Amino acid sequence: MQPNPHIQITETAGGQEPMPVLFVGHGSPMNAIEDNQFSRGWRQVAQALPRPKAVLCISAHWETWGTLVTGQEWPQTIHDFGGFPRLLYEARYPVPGSAWLAKITQNAIQGPSVGMDSEWGLDHGCWSVLMQMYPQADIPVVQLSMDYTQPPQAHYDMAQQLAPLRSQGVLILGSGNMVHNLRRVVFRGGGIADFNQPFGLDWAIEANQLFKTLINEDQHSELINYPSLGPAVQLAVPTPEHYLPLLYVLALKGSKDTVTYFNDQPVGGSLTMTSVLIRQVAG
Ligand code: ZN
Repeated sequence: MQPNPHIQITETAGGQEPMPVLFVGHGSPMNAIEDNQFSRGWRQVAQALPRPKAVLCISAHWETWGTLVTGQEWPQTIHDFGGFPRLLYEARYPVPGSAWLAKITQNAIQGPSVGMDSEWGLDHGCWSVLMQMYPQADIPVVQLSMDYTQPPQAHYDMAQQLAPLRSQGVLILGSGNMVHNLRRVVFRGGGIADFNQPFGLDWAIEANQLFKTLINEDQHSELINYPSLGPAVQLAVPTPEHYLPLLYVLALKGSKDTVTYFNDQPVGGSLTMTSVLIRQVAG
């Protein structure tokens, strides 16, 4: 596919309802090209959302020293995984970037300063989901990196500064997995892990349920200090990168917003696909 030249960015009037904010459990990269319950969930949520002017994506798969935004006019599709069928490596998401969104993101974050990157592009945490949500590739996408030197609280505090973008028609999308422990994946039936069939180990289900309870109760400080939530959560989040995008999304929840879940299933024993939609209630 060639880059889509038929892109029109229209300025939207001020005073609009804030865009919803979305956390998506991305799971296997194959979800980019498969028609399964999870990719269908992504397509359905996209149809239920107002059409965004642009998407700002925070993916588990882009950690950097300092914080960066992608600045390319046409961000490349990065195949940052190994051992998958050729069809997945041939997949491209020919979406434009957005100098406008990169700039307003830099301006919104007062501290730390956000650098402009010209080498990254879109990793699979970002494009595998957006390819299903917006297959026409006609909504510009910018990625915001996560600074691996910073603790969870700093990510949460920085993400709060992105709130004004919601009123400018920007969909902020966090992409990770609430529960993600690849060392504990259960291989069944010939050594193949099935990431479509719902299956979760007890600790994975327990941690996922605890996260949802804390989200429902707005206990964000508990979620930020997740290592103190006990052994199930310690197994669920052995490294922070797939969990942190959830904190970016929760940081943007306003007092009028409600939370709903979709794709709320464990897979492979040790991952959950649970996705979180935060949106303002009508009226
Ligand atoms: Zn991932």
